[in-house]
Amino acid sequence: MILCDIHTHSHHSFDAESSVEEMCRAAIERGLTYLAVTDHCEAEYICCGEDCEFGSFDRQIPQSIAAIREAQQKYGEQLKLLCGLELGEPMHDPEQTKHALAYGDFDFVLASVHNLRGRDDFYYMDFKQVDVDEILREYFDELAETAAFPHFDSLSHLTYPLRYIVEREGYYPDLQPFEEQIERIFNILIKNKKALEINVSGLFKPINRTLPDGYLVKKFRDMGGKYITLGTDAHCAGMVGKGIGEGIKTARQAGFTHYTVFEKHQPKLISME
Ligand SMILES: [Zn+2]
Ligand SMILES: [Zn+2]
Repeated sequence: MILCDIHTHSHHSFDAESSVEEMCRAAIERGLTYLAVTDHCEAEYICCGEDCEFGSFDRQIPQSIAAIREAQQKYGEQLKLLCGLELGEPMHDPEQTKHALAYGDFDFVLASVHNLRGRDDFYYMDFKQVDVDEILREYFDELAETAAFPHFDSLSHLTYPLRYIVEREGYYPDLQPFEEQIERIFNILIKNKKALEINVSGLFKPINRTLPDGYLVKKFRDMGGKYITLGTDAHCAGMVGKGIGEGIKTARQAGFTHYTVFEKHQPKLISME
């Protein structure tokens, strides 16, 4: 079985700790064929430069790309290392998004929503002070808007806020009221030939399921979804590849026979048989 992990962060992301080289060595040790390093770039904060709380993306992303290129030379025989980017909230600042996409020649771009317009990152949100249903409605609306953005390959960690709601409030919200919004997102992805990510980071958190979970992955498949990508969202070398087997199981149970990797934004189907 060919294994991959195409959502990981090196220390060129403000919240991660390992070098690209350490990530590559971990990937090789765990028998991965494909690794993508997808460091953070939050569109609306690019213009803040060094004053940004996340550090300067103008500095970090070119450094990430340079480290990836160097590692591609060094480990090219053992590992297919893809040059990636996790683009946060591209629709919040289309101009800066264009700027971010011009940092380099990426193989693979993930699109994410970590915070809603005018609100804190879900990581910092106090769910006791907000109407959770209203927040989720806004979240799925913003994701639909993001899904229609042309310049990405896979939509990352759908249901991301649930990770924090479960962690802090101890319950998993009923998604039934948002079913139509989720179907709308899937229809846009399918029409635009974009992938849906199965992010396995949740398996190691109190939510204890993939983002999105098997039920939604199956819905995507049943609606005609063709491309799914697999990522750990590792923020250190120790987590590279961890839980990918479970992600493959989730994809198979949903009826997928292949997962997808992207090279120069071209989808490549990898058999899970
Ligand atoms: Zn993310
Ligand atoms: Zn990430």
